Amino acid sequence: MARYTGSLCKLCRREKLKLFLKGDRCFSDKCSVDRRPYPPGQHGQARTKFSPFGTQLREKQKVKRIYGVLERQFRRFFADAARRKGITGESLLLSLERRLDNMVYRMGFARTRGEARQLVSHGHFRVNDHRATVPAMLLNAGDVVSLRKGSRQLKLIEESLNAIERRGVPAWIELDRKEFKATLKALPAREDITMPIQEQMIVELYSK
Ligand code: SF4
Repeated sequence: MARYTGSLCKLCRREKLKLFLKGDRCFSDKCSVDRRPYPPGQHGQARTKFSPFGTQLREKQKVKRIYGVLERQFRRFFADAARRKGITGESLLLSLERRLDNMVYRMGFARTRGEARQLVSHGHFRVNDHRATVPAMLLNAGDVVSLRKGSRQLKLIEESLNAIERRGVPAWIELDRKEFKATLKALPAREDITMPIQEQMIVELYSK
């Protein structure tokens, strides 16, 4: 499976926004966006004015980077969203939110979506008591994600659960920390996605 292996902080600096790709570091004063709030590279500090196309492109890149999805898969998500009834941009974001790797992150079993993706593909989770190893699997309301018994001792799981308890679990998730499982009480709504995203721009970009 293809994946981005470069600097994660550079991705945030390119978007001039904290994308929370590195767990605890993102909440510390070591965050690169806080320390160098301009894009990376020789011309990073030059004044840039984006064309309408450039603005739409940046918006798409931002969403891809938040969810850790590469272009081909992102296009597929977009095509599925366009086929569905309702507002395409909103539908796109909500299906990205329903991905198993995102849910594992939201439920607090991983500190980042990248970490969640790795844990899922290594077979640490079960969905409704069935082994699940596909990070792009879409969950539905009522689905239960549980950690395999043999994985409960992992230090990073404990650290992640401590971190989510400090920051708070989203209202649409019920976390049972003792049993290492979480239930998706309801699907998230658009207003539950708090990152500053203008999804309409992605629709405009792909509609050209
Ligand atoms: Fe982004 Fe986190 Fe790096 Fe800050 S520390 S630039 S939020 S990945």
